[in-house]
Amino acid sequence: MRLKAGHVWVYRSDIRVEGEIPPGALVAVHSERGRPIGSALYSSASQIALRMVSSQVLPDESALLELLRERIRQAITYRKRVVAPDAEAHRLIFSEADGLPGLIVDRYRQILSLQPLTQAMDRAEIKQAVLAELVQQLSACGMTSVVERVEPHIRELEQLPPAASRLLHGDETSTIYSINRIRLHYEALGGQKTGAFLDQRENYAAAARYAAGEALDAFCYQGGFALHLAAKCSKVTALDSSRPALEVAERNEQLNPGRPEIEWIEGNAFDFLKDSAATGKHYDTIVLDPPAFAKSKRTLQTALRGYKELNLRGLKMLRPGGVLVTCSCSYHLSTPDFLQMLTSAAADARRCVKVLEMRSQALDHPVVLGIPETHYLKCAIVTG
Ligand code: SAH
Repeated sequence: MRLKAGHVWVYRSDIRVEGEIPPGALVAVHSERGRPIGSALYSSASQIALRMVSSQVLPDESALLELLRERIRQAITYRKRVVAPDAEAHRLIFSEADGLPGLIVDRYRQILSLQPLTQAMDRAEIKQAVLAELVQQLSACGMTSVVERVEPHIRELEQLPPAASRLLHGDETSTIYSINRIRLHYEALGGQKTGAFLDQRENYAAAARYAAGEALDAFCYQGGFALHLAAKCSKVTALDSSRPALEVAERNEQLNPGRPEIEWIEGNAFDFLKDSAATGKHYDTIVLDPPAFAKSKRTLQTALRGYKELNLRGLKMLRPGGVLVTCSCSYHLSTPDFLQMLTSAAADARRCVKVLEMRSQALDHPVVLGIPETHYLKCAIVTG
């Protein structure tokens, strides 16, 4: 059974609700025979009706708030262990992986970005307790402001009324932070909102260790990999289909002078790779970090074709001895399936490919045994 293995999700189809439960309430969970299983946070909207927070039945709401505050302290202690002191941006709270299901908190230097994903975490009392604990723990180490970031489609899914992103504490909403000595813009509110793929932080550094020569970053977003590659490569081409992302990327580049200029291109990576191959273009370093193609199990087969085409094209354009950094952030694509896809791409490209490193998400996005969904990012660094 999932719960016995340490999972915290219970689906609606597996429960019988007794009485009327308000959205986001703390509930006591019992087995069919009436044995107490623990406490959970309830969602009236999600298929995941219950997210367990304790194997004890908590006596009341104040015990819940105290438990959540304790989990925040534990999450902070864990980050002290796994996040290098110079990583000014990192994930402080990763939902289920930190025993705080439905809550994400990222730190960008002096600003925290808080994202409630469930009815429970959106409740005023819970948000207040979370905020109070974060302020208490982090004010002494330079945190000045907390912003609540709203994803409209998540609120819709949880049947929460529309709301705007806003400042919850302090008065700063933008900053410049550094990771791996690269400086980047962060803007929590306003025109061009930014925010990094913090789960790639350690992979950026790993990619930079191998990078050389002429490089291509085919899904560059705001320049995460490209800026790291520029420190080691003679030329970097970076491509994305999003103009706003590229505009931030160019502003980020200006924060990091003294490197070869990056060529930013707006376009479709599939078309670009096809066109470049036709002209016989080759690269020494290629990064492929596409968006999640497999959004559900149902779309896995189509997604696999997309990943394979991309990786096949990437490998064909790699100079002999070059390095390919290839990623998938689809939870539904397992590590064995990812490697199988890459194996088949290598065979079709007629390349003997060696795995330099098989990597995952940064350690501030912990993988919890028993909760497979906490492990989603695959990053293979290969040469061939
Ligand atoms: N590597 C980036 C994150 C990439 S996220 C980082 O570390 O910061 C995926 C990016 O792919 C998004 O910026 C999205 O705009 C872009 N994208 C999606 N489909 C694309 C396509 N067909 N061609 C090029 N870019 C695409």
